[in-house]
Amino acid sequence: MFENLKLASLGENKKTIIKIGDLKIGKDFLLIAGPCTVESEEQMLQTAIEVKKAGAKMLRGGAFKPRTSPYAFQGLGLKGLKILQKVGKKTGLPVVSEVLDTKDVSWVCEYVDVLQIGARNMQNFSLLKEVGKAGKPVLLKRGMFSTFSEWLNCAEYILNEGNPNVILCERGIRSFETYTRNTLDLSAVPVMKELTHLPIIVDPSHGTGKISLIPAMSLAAVSAGVDGLMLEVHYKPQEATSDKEQTLSTKEFAKLSAKIKKLQTFMKKL
Ligand code: PEP
Ligand code: MN
Repeated sequence: MFENLKLASLGENKKTIIKIGDLKIGKDFLLIAGPCTVESEEQMLQTAIEVKKAGAKMLRGGAFKPRTSPYAFQGLGLKGLKILQKVGKKTGLPVVSEVLDTKDVSWVCEYVDVLQIGARNMQNFSLLKEVGKAGKPVLLKRGMFSTFSEWLNCAEYILNEGNPNVILCERGIRSFETYTRNTLDLSAVPVMKELTHLPIIVDPSHGTGKISLIPAMSLAAVSAGVDGLMLEVHYKPQEATSDKEQTLSTKEFAKLSAKIKKLQTFMKKL
């Protein structure tokens, strides 16, 4: 099942550590926070200041949004990336943003520290090859209909182009359940530890679609040994232009972050 993997499989390989400034992804816990979408400088700055204070190590914000409806807000594009970069520099947080199209990869690299490949594009092989050549770390989300084998083969596409810096992100898969937005497959954490040397993080925001479920699933992911979390956070969540039903306030994020730290201290003693 995994025999095609040459570069992504664990084998004798050492765990991948990705360095961005002082941050060592795969070694230090990677707490990524920020809104679904970049809306304004004020929104990004206020959110970034608060999440940094609460322990976030990276800022997220979408400038190109893969929306179900073509009439929904598609993101600010270049303007959004400029805001994200400016706020990242001001607060000292590295930034991650999704790239949707091969033609944008090279110039998006000028604005972000990590390129995100969204669930809907996991198997966009030309995009994977392009980010494989980009020389920036890549956060590769699991496709919503993808097996572990398919996901790891997509990581292999990026590695095969000479980019060793891939972060895997479990964000839930489609199942028959409708109460949650997706079915967050936390088994991905121990499974990936078994199969690959690449860091694995979890996104409980898209994984559940519900604010009320995010703390429990975040702590469960930490208990499973996850290398990091990606959480949607907004300084005024009720005004978020997208995904407000799964977006934590900065206060809720701070509370969760403190619990995560306590759990990590406890786990070290296990
Ligand atoms: C996102 O993180 O902004 C996003 C669109 O997530 P996903 O690709 O997992 O749906
Ligand atoms: Mn979102």
